[in-house]
Amino acid sequence: MNANTNKLADKIEALTKQSPMLCYQCGKCSAGCPIRDYMDESPNQVVRLVQLGFDDEALKSSTFWLCAGCLTCSSRCPQNFDLAKFMDAMRQTTLEEGTVIAEKDSVKFHKAFLNQVKKHGRMFEFGLARDYKLATLNLMQDVDVAPEMFVKGKIGIFPHKIKDTKGIKEIFDKTD
Ligand code: SF4
Ligand code: SF4
Repeated sequence: MNANTNKLADKIEALTKQSPMLCYQCGKCSAGCPIRDYMDESPNQVVRLVQLGFDDEALKSSTFWLCAGCLTCSSRCPQNFDLAKFMDAMRQTTLEEGTVIAEKDSVKFHKAFLNQVKKHGRMFEFGLARDYKLATLNLMQDVDVAPEMFVKGKIGIFPHKIKDTKGIKEIFDKTD
């Protein structure tokens, strides 16, 4: 590993208005993270890499792509460090800098998710699953759970749009 300056730490601080140096590595965030087992580095390890200036290593991690944004870590941190916000900034920086993305399907999922919100003003799970499967060609992934989800009303065939879809489109146009 080659440590460099804390360029990434500065960028993350500018994006989130909180310094990664706030974290004192107690590990409480990672202990409660429901996705930890699927990540290559624990959430606090990614923060540590950024603190030490191992920018390339931090940006190559799968951790922030798999983060579900559940806010468990942010709510438990004794330093009030908003780790979920840190993860958002890591995703944004990776996309901006064109770094290798550890979980490419995750980006496709995010795009499919936002596309549904843009079209309907809220989530339409069937449309999300369809767009994600077409983008990744993982056509058979999770199909076994679909019938039960239909029966329980978790997935509908038609979207329920909000009234002000025009307003949502304007938000997307401004932030794209
Ligand atoms: S809980 Fe907070 S201080 Fe502790 S390791 Fe996680 S981010 Fe750092
Ligand atoms: S917000 Fe992300 S890193 Fe934090 S506990 Fe949830 S999944 Fe883990």
